[in-house]
Amino acid sequence: MPSLAHKTGLIVGVANKRSISWAIAQAAAREGARLALTYQGERLEENVRELSAALTDPLILPLDVTEDAQIDRVFAEIDRTFGGLDFVVHGAAFAARDDLANPFVQTSRDGFKLAMDVSAYSLIALSRAALPLMEKRGGGSILTLTYLGSARVFDTYRVMGVAKAALESTVRYLAADLGPKNIRVNAISAGPIKTLAAAGIPGFSNILQVYRDRAPLRRTVDTSEVADAALFLLSEAGRAVTAEILMVDGGFHAVGI
Ligand code: NAP
Repeated sequence: MPSLAHKTGLIVGVANKRSISWAIAQAAAREGARLALTYQGERLEENVRELSAALTDPLILPLDVTEDAQIDRVFAEIDRTFGGLDFVVHGAAFAARDDLANPFVQTSRDGFKLAMDVSAYSLIALSRAALPLMEKRGGGSILTLTYLGSARVFDTYRVMGVAKAALESTVRYLAADLGPKNIRVNAISAGPIKTLAAAGIPGFSNILQVYRDRAPLRRTVDTSEVADAALFLLSEAGRAVTAEILMVDGGFHAVGI
C-alpha cells in the first residue's frame, strides 16, 4: 500500500464506524499518517472520540462546514499542532429529507442552497483554509467523495445529484487554481454503500441490488475498497493525478443496457 509516513491529514465527515471517511481515516493511520478528525455537532462527538481512541494521538475538533468561523478555528488548531498539512479528505454532504423524498420539481430554494452549501461550496472553503498550511509542506492532496448521480438520473438522488455535479466541477476548477502550488484536487465516485447518509436516500436497497445484478464485478463495493483508492490519491503514488473523478464502483458507470 502507498505510504503516508510523516504526513498529516484532516478528515471531515466521520459520523460512525460505517462512514466512508472513517475507513479512509483508518487506512491513512495504518499507513503512517497523523490525523485531525472533525465531528459535526455534539450528537456525533462521542462516536468520533470513541472511534479515534484506536488512532495515535489524533486531534479531534468540532466542525460544521457551513460555519466559516469554525473552519478558521480548525485550521488554526491544526497549524498550531501539526505545523502544516499534507492532505484533506472532504466527506461531508447533506440534503433535506423532503428534497430527497418529493418530486425533483418541488425542490425548495432553501433546500437547494443548503445541499449546495454543505456538499459543494464547503470544498472551496476547506481548500482555501488548507492552502497556507499545504504551502508550508510544498504541496498537498485534497480529496472529496461523489456519486454517479451527478451525471445520470437516479430517481431518488434528486438535489444531491445537482450538488454532486457542482462538487465535481469544483474539483476541476480548484485543481486548475491550486495545481501551480503542487496541490492536487481529486474525487472518488464511490458505488452505493449502506451508511448513515445513504439511509436518507429512498429505495437505497434497490439501488444496491441493481449494482449486484449489473456492475461488471457483479457486486457492490465496501468502504475499505474506497479507502485503498483514497490512499493512492492522497500519497506520492498519485503525485501526477489531479482534477480526476476516480470511479470506485465495480465498473457500474461503464454499463449501458
Ligand atoms: P456518512 O457516514 O453519513 O457521512 C456524511 C457526513 O457528512 C456525516 O458525518 C455528516 O454529519 C456530515 N455532514 C453533514 N452536514 C455537515 C456539515 N454541515 N458540516 C460537517 N459535516 C457535515 O455517509 P457517507 O456515505 O460515508 O458519506 C460520505 C461522503 O461520501 C458523502 O459526500 C456522500 O455523498 C459520499 N458518497 C456516499 C456514497 C454511499 O453510497 N454511501 C456513495 C458515493 C458517495 P451528520 O450525520 O451530522 O449529518
